[in-house]
Amino acid sequence: MNVPKPTLGRALAEAADKADELAKFRNEFVFGEENVIYLDGNSLGRLTKKGRAQILKTADQEWGSGLIRSWGESWLSLPRTVGDKIAKLIGAKESEVLVSDSTSVNLFKLATAALKLRSRKVILTVADNFPSDLYILKGVGDLQIMPNIEALLDNLNEETAIVSLAHTCYKTGRIHDMRLITEAAHKAGAFVIWDISHSVGVIPLQLDNCFVDMAVGCTYKYLNGGPGSPAFLFVREEMIAHMENPIQGWFSHADPFQFKQEFEAAAGIERFLTGTPPILSMAALEPALDLILEAGIDRLRKKSFLLTEYVIALAHERLTKYGVEVVSPAEAGQRGSHVSFMHADAWQLSQALIEHGVVPDFREPNILRIGLAPIYTSFVEVYDAITMLENILANKLHSNYSVARSGVS
Ligand SMILES: *Cc1c(COP(=O)(O)O)cnc(C)c1O
Repeated sequence: MNVPKPTLGRALAEAADKADELAKFRNEFVFGEENVIYLDGNSLGRLTKKGRAQILKTADQEWGSGLIRSWGESWLSLPRTVGDKIAKLIGAKESEVLVSDSTSVNLFKLATAALKLRSRKVILTVADNFPSDLYILKGVGDLQIMPNIEALLDNLNEETAIVSLAHTCYKTGRIHDMRLITEAAHKAGAFVIWDISHSVGVIPLQLDNCFVDMAVGCTYKYLNGGPGSPAFLFVREEMIAHMENPIQGWFSHADPFQFKQEFEAAAGIERFLTGTPPILSMAALEPALDLILEAGIDRLRKKSFLLTEYVIALAHERLTKYGVEVVSPAEAGQRGSHVSFMHADAWQLSQALIEHGVVPDFREPNILRIGLAPIYTSFVEVYDAITMLENILANKLHSNYSVARSGVS
């Protein structure tokens, strides 16, 4: 008789879910009728029940009934009050964080403002930085793209104005050493701007303790703010008064509703606002942040470790024999909350998975990303998803799918 190896069987996943102190948070999320296994929370987080209720409240009560009075009631202060909650997650002071615009626009604002403080023009980054960041930085200064961090550190010199990096790499999930790189940049007299889009909400960050100058990040990934929820920016307190927002509008003004002809920048972080904040787009974010804060960033990180560890173990046991290569770091401390697989047919595999009720995502040219949102992803979901992928590979089901790319992934 063939005794099945119990090592990584489903019972193990069930036991892990039973022991999971964050399991109850799943109940706080909306699960659509199809009940898909959703492994793309690193691209677009799930909808929270409280966020959904707040969207309806903002529409019906605040806008529908309150009309313009709601600006004074709650809307005007939202970029700061929501920013205060993000500050708690990233090791910043409340006065240092603001919710506004998109990550790309915020990066433009901060990089431009930082360059204005220096006669230097060189911005250093690495090749696997997020493409939008590369485009923005290229438009702002003399961008030099290094092949890796070692080369970047070697090339820091008296011409470097800014080092700008994504803290967790979107492709591989590798985390950069924030403290070490920030310190090295400062030694060379350069500023750092960290993009923490793929870290916030799953990795405890200590921007203040690492002496980070500036940071930006997005809120619709692990923070579950919803499609197009505005991004945030961070500026170290003592720098705020010295920095000029390159897109100064009425909301950057010290007193926007005086309608003065002369511009006078707000004293605080509000100077980085520009126009009217997107209230409807921000509605679901605050209740979603409350959940992340309640779950606790250290517990989320711990579960994220276990989930990524589990995916990698399952992959080695079941997938590598079909040509799947794990390209995320083997060492848990160097990983964010997604695991990336490389496979020649990654696109077709992603399409086959989606049709079989598992939603991962795909990044060109051959990366399949398994995003693990510790606040709502269960171990059983991971087990079932990897089992499905194994089944697809073993039976070559993906060969029925076209190599032609389509849609958003
Ligand atoms: C998702 C992401 C962004 C998003 O940029 P937007 O301008 O908000 O669309 C930016 N940077 C990184 C590293 C990201 O992962």
